[in-house]
Formats: sequence, structure tokens, C-alpha cells
Amino acid sequence: MSRRTSRPRRPDAPPAGPPRITPTAPCPCGLPAAYGECCGRFHAGTAAAPTCEALMRSRYAAFVVQDAGYLLRTWHPSTRPAVVDFDPAMRWTGLEILETTEGSAFHTTGTVTFRAHYTDDGRPDALHEKSRFVREQGAWVYEAGVFVE
Ligand SMILES: [Zn+2]
Repeated sequence: MSRRTSRPRRPDAPPAGPPRITPTAPCPCGLPAAYGECCGRFHAGTAAAPTCEALMRSRYAAFVVQDAGYLLRTWHPSTRPAVVDFDPAMRWTGLEILETTEGSAFHTTGTVTFRAHYTDDGRPDALHEKSRFVREQGAWVYEAGVFVE
């Protein structure tokens, strides 16, 4: 048996800032589409989310890429915070849409129930929420969330 030389492990330094998602990378919202053809269009402002579910997905993806401007402009003025803070210890790892009500192109309100997975300092956890959306001047905006669990 030969003695193995142990090499010092490289420390797994967390990347500084948000993960870089290129337009051709898989969209973080979970749909089988490239980011640039999915939520990236909404973030860039070249398209508007047509349904509550699309808005929910794009807002989740905005948390992943840390696009505070998009989160604020898709937040209802009555509930919108002054700033969006991103917790550097938190990494969003996946989104599950569990249920939607209304929220189509023909509605003015809708809800999306979802589970958003993340790690907090490396510990896996999930946020289970029912979000309410309203149409404001033609565009869907996030109004409020109700914690389900
Ligand atoms: Zn997407």
C-alpha cells in the first residue's frame, strides 16, 4: 500500500455576488427554456409576464440573479418595500409551482401557491407561500404573500 499524499483542499469560497446567468443558460425559474428567452425578457423589459404564474417565475428568477429593480417594479405600490435586500448567505435552488387560481390574460387578480427552495448558509430549506397578484395598469404585479406553513 502506498501512502497517499494528502493535498490541502482548496477552500470552497462562495462566489461573490449573484450567480452569473447568461442568456443561453437554463432559466432559473425551472421552465425548460434559456434564460434570455424566458424570464430574461421580462427582466430586460422587452416583454411583460402574461400570467400570474409567469410573473411569479420571473420574480423568483429575479431573486436568483438579484435583479432588485425588476422585483420593485413588479411589486404593488401599496406593499412595495423601499429596497430589496439580498441575503448573501442565501442561495435559491429551485421553484415548484403547486397551484394557480385565475391570473390569466382574462383576469385582473390571481394567486400562485409555490415552494421555493434555498440553502441558508448551506442548510437546505424552503419557502411555502401563496402569493396574490393584481393587474395594475395592464401589467401583473405582486401584491402580498400568505405563508402557508
Ligand atoms: Zn424563466
